[in-house]
Amino acid sequence: MTVSREWSNLPAKLRAAVEQHQAEAPVDLAALARGFGLSVKAATLAPGISGEIRPEGNSFVIRVNRHDAAVRQRFTVAHEIAHFLLHQSEIGKGITDDVLYRSSLSGKIEAEANRLAADILMPDHLVQRIKANSEVLNINDIPLHLSKRFGVSESAMKIKLGL
Ligand SMILES: [Zn+2]
Repeated sequence: MTVSREWSNLPAKLRAAVEQHQAEAPVDLAALARGFGLSVKAATLAPGISGEIRPEGNSFVIRVNRHDAAVRQRFTVAHEIAHFLLHQSEIGKGITDDVLYRSSLSGKIEAEANRLAADILMPDHLVQRIKANSEVLNINDIPLHLSKRFGVSESAMKIKLGL
């Protein structure tokens, strides 16, 4: 398992603020967002749109498409938090992400947000600990088992596990 360079390069103070909410699985995204002064709302967004982050008042609001599956909504919230942590100066009047996490920003920036989102949802130390302690008998069942513990899709967990 590896961590992204986005995570490694995050200022220590921000990393510590995220880690406060990564002691147990699933990572408490709502508390994590609140810790940064962000509010998260489930909303009916336009078809094909998974999420957005916009300035409101003196902070930002994240809206996630309420019609998406729960694990997808979690990934979207983590993706928008990643934009807040990495790309705050690019947010402007707002970033809107479609179902493929494309926006008006570059593919490079979107890939950065996806990588950091994965490290927010699936912190290395916690995945390793839970994997080591899990009593799953069949090794093929581990990705699904871990994906349920972390509230992520099985495919996201497989990527994390390098499978
Ligand atoms: Zn995005």
